[in-house]
Amino acid sequence: MKTDTQCVHSGGYFEKTTGGINTPIFTSSAYDYLNRKEAPYPRYFNTVNQDVVVKKICALEKAEDGVLFSSGMAAMSTAILALAGAGDHVILMDELYGGTHAFVTDTFERLGIRYSFAKTNVDAITAAITDRTRVIVIESPTNPLLGIIDIRKVADLARARGIATIIDNTFATPINQKPIELGIDIVVHSGTKYMGGHSDLCCGVAVSSQPHVKKILHLARHLGGSLNAGDCYLLERSLKTLALRVKQQTANAGLLAEFLAANPVVRKVFYPGLKDAFGHAVARKQMTGFGAMLAFELDAEQVRTDAFLHHLDIVRPAVSLGGVETTICAPAVTSHAKMSPEERQRVGVTDALLRLSVGIEHIDDLIADFDQALKLSTA
Ligand SMILES: *Cc1c(COP(=O)(O)O)cnc(C)c1O
Repeated sequence: MKTDTQCVHSGGYFEKTTGGINTPIFTSSAYDYLNRKEAPYPRYFNTVNQDVVVKKICALEKAEDGVLFSSGMAAMSTAILALAGAGDHVILMDELYGGTHAFVTDTFERLGIRYSFAKTNVDAITAAITDRTRVIVIESPTNPLLGIIDIRKVADLARARGIATIIDNTFATPINQKPIELGIDIVVHSGTKYMGGHSDLCCGVAVSSQPHVKKILHLARHLGGSLNAGDCYLLERSLKTLALRVKQQTANAGLLAEFLAANPVVRKVFYPGLKDAFGHAVARKQMTGFGAMLAFELDAEQVRTDAFLHHLDIVRPAVSLGGVETTICAPAVTSHAKMSPEERQRVGVTDALLRLSVGIEHIDDLIADFDQALKLSTA
């Protein structure tokens, strides 16, 4: 099946009682244990509602199996900790999602896990490898600067040394990028974003091959970050339109990036789909679409960024991303607020930077909204 068809038909549950075509929401937390190997239990990650969603995401990511979590951070933290313990060394890209960055710097020392942050390139990651390195964690495109790393090269160099690889594929989605086909071991998502897609869910997932999933599941049952049946159902429903949504969002983002790049009051646009963007050639090789996230800086001498945000009518200033509605935020005071100003400076998250999550609205309305807000806030 093609990806669009998998979104609709993979996973799923045949409901014998009524013949209804949707998966019922099974609310039980207690199940009969006689005559079965293992009774379902929500925190065991083995209920029908959890299972059907995992199957659909595995089909999309071309993974053998997976674990569905109650947040993206539950998925990421459990996946890393399943593979690295005291004495081990983990390499992470320094442009990672702010929450992942904070998790590592806040807790790894206490857990005895050593770590290095590397720049967004294969040489920097190679240089950081030690004989204790167990895991390499990457993200591409990165949050918020849309940096691109050559995923296959990282996967190859890690595999040759017996190091496991984890990628945060939240920004790309399996519609635009399938990292397991590029050799990555574990794909993690904040399902809160594109997979949920309607800004009303918090969930996450980690998918991989059986041996890795076994380790993640083992730890996940202790840590307990499972997803409830009602939210599993919402996620399953959302995934049916994932391809439709992401294709429209990606097309809109490409057009908005061009509009912004051509505007004299915009100082810089970060979008891997732009021909002169850093990483464009690699992105073209490993992605089927360039995604629907972009970032830009307004020229502070010509436009007041604060005023611009207030003058937007359709585009909503909001934290989080990936919804059907276009949202905008300043990473320095939202997703990356926990980083020190020095660290933000180092990774290029300036106070003027705005991150845009492009929705499914008509492109003409989005461009008109940007146009009027820019004009009203020109100094
Ligand atoms: C939001 C996000 C996360 C964390 O997900 P939660 O669902 O908020 O826990 C991880 N990675 C990326 C890229 C994100 O955007």
